[in-house]
Amino acid sequence: MLDEALLAAQQATLSGAAVSYGGADGAHARRRELDHVQRVKAAFAAGEFVPHFQPQIDLAAGCISGFEVLARWQARGRGVQLPEVFLSAFEIAECLQDLDLAIVDQACAHLRRWLDSGLAVPRLLCNLSRATIGQAGFLAAVDRVLARHLVPSHGIGFELTESHLLREPVRARALLDALRARGIYLALDDFGTGYSNLLALHDWPVDCIKVDRSFVRAVDTDSRSQDLLHLVLGMSRSLGCAVVCEGVETESHLAWLSAAGNSYLQGWYFAEALSPDLVPRLAPLFVRDAGLGKTPCQRARSLAARIHDAVGVLPPA
Ligand code: C2E
Ligand code: CA
Ligand code: CA
Repeated sequence: MLDEALLAAQQATLSGAAVSYGGADGAHARRRELDHVQRVKAAFAAGEFVPHFQPQIDLAAGCISGFEVLARWQARGRGVQLPEVFLSAFEIAECLQDLDLAIVDQACAHLRRWLDSGLAVPRLLCNLSRATIGQAGFLAAVDRVLARHLVPSHGIGFELTESHLLREPVRARALLDALRARGIYLALDDFGTGYSNLLALHDWPVDCIKVDRSFVRAVDTDSRSQDLLHLVLGMSRSLGCAVVCEGVETESHLAWLSAAGNSYLQGWYFAEALSPDLVPRLAPLFVRDAGLGKTPCQRARSLAARIHDAVGVLPPA
């Protein structure tokens, strides 16, 4: 009963709602959720959460310029589970920061192995939650992870959303400055959603803006998405920061984005998040290749085809 009361209170805190026990159906739903949280905690203790790696593409250079690190749950007997299945359980259990650091730690361990085997793996970008950014010992923990794996700070980066930073802007600003002073790359994630505003691009010391895939999804048809993309691209040029467009799925997305002058892309058109054993197969694409084609679209098609060949998946329909 205590667990259930705690869970209801935590859920209410997360959703901003009043605590409600909602009858027998509600009690049953809460029991199932509590069981799920316990399963996730046990799976975390058993080391079932691992990083997968989604390539980010630089069309101008014709190469893979980085990988976003995405958490996956290798649930015994149930295959690979996506964050939508487990992130809220970590949040309810108030240990999302443990997941974040475990994923950063494992990503750095992979990076060390790849560097040791002579692969020039580009930067790995890990996602950080609000709880992680707010954690008092976060900076020291990052330093320990980098030191443990002898990974150079420019080998990794973090993706953070503005809504997370705005909770405690003064502390967040100090944290970003400290991370950047170490040479760690910083990306403002999910731009265009939540609290994001163009003026913020001046305020936060970030190297890159990631435009949310909800804008990319409709960029070839919807004038609002097109306006946002043009504004972000123009502003980022004057600020000297990069723009990565997420969720690139089709030739039509690609054609519009490259015509608008965007060079950094990420999405299923190229690859989904890949398990670590597939990453070394992409090594030939870590270096600039002038022979991939003259136009950005040609280079994108060649890169996508080479990635699909290397990892053995069919190209998108
Ligand atoms: P995100 O940071 O916006 O990550 C991008 C999401 O878009 C990933 O979903 C990725 O698999 C998906 N995606 C990539 N390309 C495409 C595409 O072309 N089309 C579509 N429809 N989706 C695409 P995923 O892996 O399910 O992750 C969802 C969210 O979970 C992430 O969104 C991120 O906010 C969070 N997340 C993932 N790993 C971690 C982690 O280690 N720590 C924290 N705090 N959050 C994480
Ligand atoms: Ca992200
Ligand atoms: Ca994102």
